[in-house]
Amino acid sequence: MFVERRRVQDKVALVTGAGSGIGRAAARLLARQGARVIVSDRDEVSAASCADEVIAEDGRASAMLLDVTNETSWNAAIRSVLQHHGRLDVLVNSAGIAGSSSLAACSLEDWRRVMAVNLDGVFLGTKYAVEAMQRGGGGSIVNVASVSGITPSPGAAAYCASKAALRMFSRVVAIECADAENLVRVNVVTPGGVKTAMWQNEPFFRDLMSEHGGVEQAFAAIEGKSASQKFFTADEVAKTILYLASDESSPLTGAEIVLNRGHSA
Ligand code: NAD
Repeated sequence: MFVERRRVQDKVALVTGAGSGIGRAAARLLARQGARVIVSDRDEVSAASCADEVIAEDGRASAMLLDVTNETSWNAAIRSVLQHHGRLDVLVNSAGIAGSSSLAACSLEDWRRVMAVNLDGVFLGTKYAVEAMQRGGGGSIVNVASVSGITPSPGAAAYCASKAALRMFSRVVAIECADAENLVRVNVVTPGGVKTAMWQNEPFFRDLMSEHGGVEQAFAAIEGKSASQKFFTADEVAKTILYLASDESSPLTGAEIVLNRGHSA
């Protein structure tokens, strides 16, 4: 009998920001496709609830408290993964915050908060993961950027700058890994707007929710009329993450997959 192998069967995958949104959807999909998933977030409760969901679906997952801005936290996380699983095959850097504000309203503290999560977090995760993966014979790192790192969004300078920098950082590291022949791949998934809780943390979105009478109504108010401007679901983004995490994408490194429905084609 032909038994189809699942797409990331037995891979050890660490997902950051996996308590919510894209990270959560990615963790669940990777587990459904056979991975052993470490569901990490700075919010321990949401990480645990995601791991519980995976286990309820007969997947393999464990929850981990990981604040991506904290180097000690990364050190402990990677050590724990290696101790429990013997290797790390996949890292999905999904943790991120928006922190929209105009230049005038953006304090140095605000700027640094966004950079700490979106950029320092990816830098630290990539650094520690490359080290662990190369000892295990390779792996795949998937960094979550945003079309805001390609197309400027007024009122979100820190966010846009962090995502633009993440894209370039990933390309440089991909080349360094290729030159080192360590079989570690680094790729970027770059979504347009995705319906997640990230929006609901933004004051302008909460205003839209009150004005239009709910979350879905607020999303409808900002998405364009054309099909190319519709929001994505976190599950749609997770499918691209799964592809980049799996060996199906083995020829790809230093690549970026932009999810834009042709909007910025
Ligand atoms: P979300 O708010 O639903 O999830 C983000 C998760 O990251 C949360 O669980 C949060 O607790 C966690 N997090 C925040 N700071 C952290 C830290 N310091 N350490 C560890 N975890 C931390 O948001 P989302 O939309 O799923 O965002 C995921 C990624 O996708 C982000 O990098 C975001 O920039 C990117 N993105 C989102 C959109 C969108 O429209 N939602 C579009 C493009 C890219």
